[in-house]
Amino acid sequence: MSVPPAGPGPSSIPGEGFGTQPPPPPPPQPQQVPQVQQEPEPAQPQQVNTANTALQDGVNRCPKCGSTDIQLRVSTGMLVCLFCRHEWSEAKIEPMVSGEVPLWDLTGTTVASGASDISPEVSGVMTLKCSGCGSEVVVNTAEAMSSRCHWCRHVLTINEQIPNGAVPDAVLPFSITRDQALANIKQFAGKRQVFAHKAFRSGFTPENVVGVYLPYLVIDANASAEVWGQGEIETARYTRKVGDHEETYYNADVYQVQRHVDYTVDDLTIESSAERANMNAFVNTNNIINTILPFDTENAVQWNANYLVGYTSERRDQDVSQVEPVLEDQLLSIARAQVENSMRAYDRGVRWEAEHLDVHGSRWVAMYLPVWLYSFYQPNNNGGMVHYIAVNGRTGETMGSVPVAQARLITFALAIGVVVEALVLVMILGVLL
Ligand SMILES: [Zn+2]
Ligand SMILES: [Zn+2]
Repeated sequence: MSVPPAGPGPSSIPGEGFGTQPPPPPPPQPQQVPQVQQEPEPAQPQQVNTANTALQDGVNRCPKCGSTDIQLRVSTGMLVCLFCRHEWSEAKIEPMVSGEVPLWDLTGTTVASGASDISPEVSGVMTLKCSGCGSEVVVNTAEAMSSRCHWCRHVLTINEQIPNGAVPDAVLPFSITRDQALANIKQFAGKRQVFAHKAFRSGFTPENVVGVYLPYLVIDANASAEVWGQGEIETARYTRKVGDHEETYYNADVYQVQRHVDYTVDDLTIESSAERANMNAFVNTNNIINTILPFDTENAVQWNANYLVGYTSERRDQDVSQVEPVLEDQLLSIARAQVENSMRAYDRGVRWEAEHLDVHGSRWVAMYLPVWLYSFYQPNNNGGMVHYIAVNGRTGETMGSVPVAQARLITFALAIGVVVEALVLVMILGVLL
């Protein structure tokens, strides 16, 4: 992301001495000129077609030998034919979507075809005619993006972008192997072993880890933001005797502060599954997924269902319009962080009272991101809670929640207390001797 220097602009208006007087009102907003004509229709988003035209739904063969047994080879990040060991990969998605336009020139809303609106009436269950033997093979895209024909053993894959959210524009393949993920999970749990619930310790089977592709919208944006508020600079500090004690008083100058920032954001990552976004902390601890961000989304490649063979996936159920408010929230907090540096002079702090965001342009790409998940179900009176340990499938970053045994925590705290008391006793004895 690049941002022009904000600097203490000419917009700081000095106050007049003691800071208790009412602050000046916020600056006037641009006046709306009353108009009789109808509001213009909102501009339709531009679309970039990312469909992988080299692939169809059904049998897709190895370009070398014609086999359909293809999967991701994690160590190279390439697709490998299990029959002839030929390796290849799909093209990176980024140049396909961004083209030649620099982020600063991005205008309007551009939505890649894999991120287009989901039609609720489109079924996620697809029936494919196997071109190997002619029989019909059913793929439930909620669970898998490929299936093996029972009759001729060919693997059939879903590659065309059906409007049910199951086929994104791009996929970021796993580059952390299952063994590495397993080691990270064991280490994470090992450090917390002392406090962990007995059931967790006895039932700990990290071998149950599963590789999941989770749906995200990856967004580039070109925006401007404006914030208004009041900053205070201390000018004096003194104490006054009130009754039998002293109270500290401050004098401060109050300034009306305004900042404008133009900025671009590259590859902001926002989840596009409602279930995951509205996570209920009492039922599960899905929010840990956000703590293992970021992903190197610039390395995502064009869709090929073979990248998912052996992994599970969760389909996107949110449209761009539903995620837009989340994007705006994140853009505003980025703007506030950007102006922070120019606020140092206000040693008593700045209170923001109004803000305004203009998104000049945004570009949306639907992407599957790789996560290794170990889950542990903890039954309790309220129906139970699922705990997770998650490993970023690209960086190995690991985070999770482990059910805690309250009794063990208390015992541990008591043990520390006893040691401290013992030390004090030894020290007192030392003094006496
Ligand atoms: Zn082959
Ligand atoms: Zn067949």
